Amino acid sequence: MTGKSSEEQLLEFLYACPVGLIECDLTGDIALMNPHAMQHLLPLAGPRDAGNLFTAFEQHAPELRSIVAGYAAATGKICDGHRIFVDLGQGRRAQAPKVLACTIVKLGADRLMVTLSDISQQVVQEERLRQADTWFATLLDGVNEYAALSITPDGRIASANACFTKQTGRDCTAVTGHNLADVLDSDTSGGDLRLDEQLEIAARDGWHLQEGWQQRADGERYWCQRLVVARSEGDGPRPTGFSVILRDVPRREAAAEDMRRLLTCDHLTGASNRRHFSQIMEREQAHWRELRQSLSLIVLDLDHFKAVNDTHGHPVGDVLLRRVAEVCTLLLPPRGIFARLGGEEFGVLLPRFDHEQAIGLADDMRKAIAALELDTPRGPLKVTASLGCATLDEAGGSIDAVIALADKRLYAAKREGRNRVYRSTACAA
Ligand code: GH3
Ligand code: MG
Ligand code: MG
Repeated sequence: MTGKSSEEQLLEFLYACPVGLIECDLTGDIALMNPHAMQHLLPLAGPRDAGNLFTAFEQHAPELRSIVAGYAAATGKICDGHRIFVDLGQGRRAQAPKVLACTIVKLGADRLMVTLSDISQQVVQEERLRQADTWFATLLDGVNEYAALSITPDGRIASANACFTKQTGRDCTAVTGHNLADVLDSDTSGGDLRLDEQLEIAARDGWHLQEGWQQRADGERYWCQRLVVARSEGDGPRPTGFSVILRDVPRREAAAEDMRRLLTCDHLTGASNRRHFSQIMEREQAHWRELRQSLSLIVLDLDHFKAVNDTHGHPVGDVLLRRVAEVCTLLLPPRGIFARLGGEEFGVLLPRFDHEQAIGLADDMRKAIAALELDTPRGPLKVTASLGCATLDEAGGSIDAVIALADKRLYAAKREGRNRVYRSTACAA
């Protein structure tokens, strides 16, 4: 910036500026215009006077004159991003049609500053999005097996498409305003999630997909794929509504379910595997961070299990591991995850559980394990477990730290004599 006057600098800026800048008076007579503005203005002025803003825009935006005339304030923004559609046709000056955004600011009694920018790309994108919306809506309406519902944040049906009537036998207009869970009586006897539970999970995770039996109005059952997607606008943590898609699908030979089990479950006990447990833990950590939802962890290790193997043999040890997983899984709350972390060590992940609740459940699991009795050729076999609990809050949100803390407490329980849940008052870590 050496040796250049501020005026020269301003001119330099005006010259290089990628936005059209025009300074004119209230009658539109242009005092100053940068090259970018010239590129837009000259072709559309044609034989008319390109030295006057209103004359140059006479054909494409005659409204500019009255917009400016109608602005009473001494200074301020007269219009912001006013769209001007420019199509110069087929002639000698042929150019692709474009859309200009025009902003006019009144700087003083007789002084206007005008900016012109080419927003053609943006307009094309907007148009594409609108088209995609329409196509998507038509697609959902046209394809027979997709019933689509729009759901309010509190679980009521805002609208349902025609296919909903075809699929369920229920009038799509009559169901509007009703609670979704009341309208669709799903058969949850197989342990499927209820619709309100699905909505809650979708609110947390963005979406949830489940397959299960669904009932039509006449009582007939059909196999249904139920996708719930949370809609959100802005950055708010709560969704602004849900979209629910129901598909009437042939019940496949559960191939996908087998695959899912293979990837997420421990082969011996059927509990979640370590990998799945870690994935869920990371997801829950995100919710802890965003929503400050409490999260507890229990780590459980069977006592003197080596002796079980030594006395009764490995296969009996395996059966006992399965039974332990079974009784603990039965005690699990709906959101809880029970996983085999390795050997005879298990982990329990408890979203929304505080420390006291986790200790309560850990003690129930301890009692259930101690009550187990296995008949073996060498007589009845019993086992006990030691448990440690920790919350993500205590660990400052770190997964490694919460595992380490629960582990430390588990080993404190071992030291205190086993068959117990660590409590800070009972045994110090
Ligand atoms: P502690 O009370 O201190 O935990 O004693 P422990 O004997 O349980 O501890 P340790 O970790 O030394 O032994 C764990 C045993 O668990 C060793 C191993 O034989 C057994 N184990 C690990 N995985 C399996 C499995 O898949 N099946 C069977 N049957 N036993 C297993
Ligand atoms: Mg052990
Ligand atoms: Mg162990």
